[in-house]
Amino acid sequence: MYEYRCNGCGKLYEQLRRMSEADTDLVCPHCASHKVERQLSCFATGGCGSGGGGGRFT
Ligand SMILES: [Zn+2]
Repeated sequence: MYEYRCNGCGKLYEQLRRMSEADTDLVCPHCASHKVERQLSCFATGGCGSGGGGGRFT
């Protein structure tokens, strides 16, 4: 699961993708824009806290 942010409409959305395809053919489901950036998910940062937005380990 990856998190993406659309620069066209500014919405965040999640999509299940293979790692090799994570950055290919990105199309916003809301406005069909291709200006989509992948966000760092909790998988990528290694820590998925219950509060959300954490991901910082001591
Ligand atoms: Zn969009």
